[in-house]
Amino acid sequence: MLIGIDDTDSNEGMCTTYLGALLQEELRAYGKVAAEPVLIRLNPTIPYKTRGNAAVALKIETKSAEKVMKHVLERVEAFARFECEKTNPGVVFVPEKDIKRLKTPLWTFLGRAIKEVLTIKEAKTLIQELKIPFKAYKNGRGLIGALAACGALLNLEKWDHTFEYLAYREKCRLKPFSPRKVETKSLYDADLATYPQTWDTVDYANGIPVCVPHSPDPVLYGIRGESVEAVSRAVAKIKAEPVERFCVYRTNQGTDMHLLPVDRIEKIKDMHSYSLEGRVLKTPETIEGGHVIFSLQDRKGAELDCAAFEPTKNFRNLVRKLLPGDRVLLSGSVKNQTLNIEKLEIKALAPQYREENPKCPICGKHMKSAGRAQGFRCKPCETTAKSKICVEEKRDLFPGVYEVPPCARRHLAKPLVREKAFFKGEDKHKINPSR
Ligand code: ATP
Repeated sequence: MLIGIDDTDSNEGMCTTYLGALLQEELRAYGKVAAEPVLIRLNPTIPYKTRGNAAVALKIETKSAEKVMKHVLERVEAFARFECEKTNPGVVFVPEKDIKRLKTPLWTFLGRAIKEVLTIKEAKTLIQELKIPFKAYKNGRGLIGALAACGALLNLEKWDHTFEYLAYREKCRLKPFSPRKVETKSLYDADLATYPQTWDTVDYANGIPVCVPHSPDPVLYGIRGESVEAVSRAVAKIKAEPVERFCVYRTNQGTDMHLLPVDRIEKIKDMHSYSLEGRVLKTPETIEGGHVIFSLQDRKGAELDCAAFEPTKNFRNLVRKLLPGDRVLLSGSVKNQTLNIEKLEIKALAPQYREENPKCPICGKHMKSAGRAQGFRCKPCETTAKSKICVEEKRDLFPGVYEVPPCARRHLAKPLVREKAFFKGEDKHKINPSR
């Protein structure tokens, strides 16, 4: 049986992944729980999300399906933050006999939940049509994520994946909420020992440990990486307060699964994420708040505002160097008709020119002004010229692929360090992972 759960937390506490970790352990009383539960990230632009729009799914081989369902619902009811208006839990169960039947429709639903904006009605209609056992609380919005997570678990072979090792705090430290105790140096040690097999543990450029959250939820830290072995090796280096439990999730984090390739700006809709090629139309401008904005133009002449927001820190310096005419491929989510840049590929740089005094054809030195409106001359060689010349300037920028730093990474964005492994020779230098 598969169990999908979503929407149990609030800004004041809890995390659906914690419930997943708890059930992963407790359900062992009823059968064999599969080793790798799934943590799936859905459309990152959804306003109903608490933090990262995650949903979880677990798998159990059991002869006591009824008892499992009862236990799961009891735990959801005990832990979900019902008092929060935005918390609308949803749980779905996929019995073993239905696994084959539901594989394809739930895969399609997962794709849509990652890339599109769905309604609660769509989730409920699908549940009705496919006769899926479920439980919805309050408005039942969590059914969307619960169905999607089951779609991921049913189709493991179809999607790229990474792993996250999530360590959870002891209860006594959550009430009243106390600052997390994690030795910063040990995080750098963990990164040094395992990068590039793990990533986003720390942000060197900005001097920030990024794997330790600051919100009042039970997560102590989360280590992301390519394999269970790599994340576990990193964790072995971390010195921190005692953990209540941990769980290693198979996840679609770091896979770019949210991106829709698009060739025309007119096709772009708010609350969707795209990869889009175009030309920089205007020189990037830094606006109030430190956000850097420029206009991108597609082949048809349509324009879109693109932004490197303040939290992207040092990435903004790179964006500020772009000039009108540069050809770029951007990826990111669109909200308020602005693309929030996650990655930037500079495909071709426009030539940049500056004016300077002409050179003497005899000695090769720059000529001097011969007086107001009298052109230029080289006195020793007795040569003259009428006007200044345009020379191409070297750009302080190289074609290649760049990304926001770890402290600004979106969960679904594929870190360039994952790409780099696939590039060889010259091309390898074009990939610039941010660390
Ligand atoms: P949690 O730890 O509880 O999962 P979160 O940050 O992941 O917190 P949720 O509390 O799950 O956010 O809130 C997101 C809500 O949006 C859920 O009810 C989920 O079912 C719903 N949702 C997810 N993807 C979509 C989508 N593509 N369209 C519409 N609703 C969605």
